[in-house]
Amino acid sequence: MKIHEYQAKEILRQYGVPTPKGIPCFSVDEAIKAGQTLAQPVLVVKAQIHAGGRGKGGGVKVAKSPEELKAYANQILGMNLITHQTGPQGQPVRRLLIEEGADIKKELYIGMVVDRKSQRVALMASPEGGMDIEEVAAHTPEKILTVLIDPMTGLTTAQANQVSEFIGVPKELWTQAEGLFQGLYKAFDEKDASLAEINPMVITGDGRVLALDAKMNFDSNALYRHPDVVALRDLDEEDPSEIEASRFDLSYISLDGNIGCLVNGAGLAMATMDIVKLYGGNPANFLDVGGGATTEKVTEAFKLMLKNPDLKAILVNIFGGIMKCDVIATGVVEAAKQVKLGVPLVVRLEGTNVELGKQILAQSGLPIISANNMADAAEKVVQAARG
Ligand code: GDP
Ligand code: MN
Repeated sequence: MKIHEYQAKEILRQYGVPTPKGIPCFSVDEAIKAGQTLAQPVLVVKAQIHAGGRGKGGGVKVAKSPEELKAYANQILGMNLITHQTGPQGQPVRRLLIEEGADIKKELYIGMVVDRKSQRVALMASPEGGMDIEEVAAHTPEKILTVLIDPMTGLTTAQANQVSEFIGVPKELWTQAEGLFQGLYKAFDEKDASLAEINPMVITGDGRVLALDAKMNFDSNALYRHPDVVALRDLDEEDPSEIEASRFDLSYISLDGNIGCLVNGAGLAMATMDIVKLYGGNPANFLDVGGGATTEKVTEAFKLMLKNPDLKAILVNIFGGIMKCDVIATGVVEAAKQVKLGVPLVVRLEGTNVELGKQILAQSGLPIISANNMADAAEKVVQAARG
């Protein structure tokens, strides 16, 4: 689960991470009032969306007067912000963060993720802050230092100093920097984050270390023990189809192709998308209906896929292991009847009672295209999508 920058900063402040003072706003009037409350000569107007790269996209502006603040707030609030992370369709801005301006001397990068291989939290640091860390990783990986944190000892002072030295924090600020790293680690650990990123962490002209930007993602499997984090969820920032899917316990991710895929099991769903691609098609979604695919779940899955105006064909690829093929076939037939299917439907079944399942599909009276194996199914659905 993702949250906004201002929310991440609120959490980090509770753990002693220094940030600029700021006030979240939902209207231009609130932004003007926030400017008066903060009463600083320089203020920053920041779009709050669940995507990075806002600066380059015009979503972060430095205002040097109340007039400028008002103009920028007007301009950014409600704009459709396009960044490399939003995709070409962009994301409308519904919230702003008005923040006191910082006198930036250096922009550095600090991030934490769970490293599966070492089973530890990895701290990544780079002197190349502010810009795209993905670019740094791709072209100058030697400029990124990774430090693995032992859960028994936590981040040690020696490690913190190693990081400070690598990214060029002046020695007299190492204690301050360590405080920030420790706070970030504690927040990451206690809140069950999956990612925490400060880009940029800055050194200011008056010798302070500050988190100028903040991003936190949380492990959804641990949200049950963090109601305070769940309360920060902003559904406006999430794909409506994905929210709907989560209500029915379906794993659904929207993609930009035109072939809907309904599959049981994440591995088979990935393989299905691969083979559709191999035959020249493009999946419209990833959809795993799980092990217990009931008629209701399959029906909801069809409804979700059919909401997509780009959809040209559907591929149902089910392996009847725990579920029997005849039960699945009945579910597919019921669902297809309920939703008034307007696109070709290719079905590939395999597993227990497969012959019975195929018979049910054939006798349903629905224009279902039956396939014998995955390659056959992929070929048929790609053809069907081409019309
Ligand atoms: P992002 O583009 O979505 O990552 O948004 P950031 O919060 O990282 O802001 C982008 C850039 O705006 C930063 O790297 C800074 O260069 C600049 N910026 C943000 N806040 C301030 C500020 O208080 N003063 C100045 N001068 N620049 C700022
Ligand atoms: Mn940033």
